[in-house]
Amino acid sequence: MKQRIEDIKNKISKAAIACGRNADSVQLVTASKTVSADKIQEAALAGVKIFGENYIQEARQKMESDELANFSFSQISWHFIGHLQTNKAKYAVKMFDLIHSVDSFKLANELNKHAQNNFKVQNILIQVNIAKEATKSGIYEEEVEALIRKIGHFKNISVKGLMIIPPFYNDPDKARPYFKAVCDLRNHINETITTEIAPNVSMDELSMGMSGDFETAIEYGATLVRIGTSVFGKRD
Ligand SMILES: *Cc1c(COP(=O)(O)O)cnc(C)c1O
Repeated sequence: MKQRIEDIKNKISKAAIACGRNADSVQLVTASKTVSADKIQEAALAGVKIFGENYIQEARQKMESDELANFSFSQISWHFIGHLQTNKAKYAVKMFDLIHSVDSFKLANELNKHAQNNFKVQNILIQVNIAKEATKSGIYEEEVEALIRKIGHFKNISVKGLMIIPPFYNDPDKARPYFKAVCDLRNHINETITTEIAPNVSMDELSMGMSGDFETAIEYGATLVRIGTSVFGKRD
């Protein structure tokens, strides 16, 4: 596993440098759904800093496990990358440094409320359903600006950028238009939404790219690539 992680980190750095970016401008988020706590521990000891989980209960069991409970927050960080139900917002706020998948005003509002109760500013990304797929969560491209205007003044959430899961293709080139679209959308929001309207918004992060297409995503500005299979092998 150590070797696989080194390989992926090298590929990430190379892809960044190839398009004129800094090698350290892209972070690896290791997608660890269905992966056991001991495997995650092995990855953490091999240098993985960020783990992305999809389900609250599964994530909690791993975080509290003997294998992982003793890692400090400076050693590893947990991100939520799955679909988040509003009634789970109160748990998510206690567990995750970044929630990638905020896709409604109601959820953002709930996160803000619970973050306030926990004396925390919760970092979030807005998930965009970039190809308008019926099976995927996320809001449509056209709705992003309005949502950010509505939540941008919330004191206990901080919008850090956008997340997408483009349609799955065997050829990563086919995902290019979606990576480009979300990059353009981010730039547009940066130009139109001022810090006066939305003091807690800084659109620096783009969470996109998985095992099959992260190098292409990096060309379009990905700062967080979510990679599971290439680190842990195929999921059961
Ligand atoms: C599982 C998952 C990934 C990782 O996918 P791989 O193809 O295994 O690299 C990335 N993002 C999300 C939201 C996931 O659920």
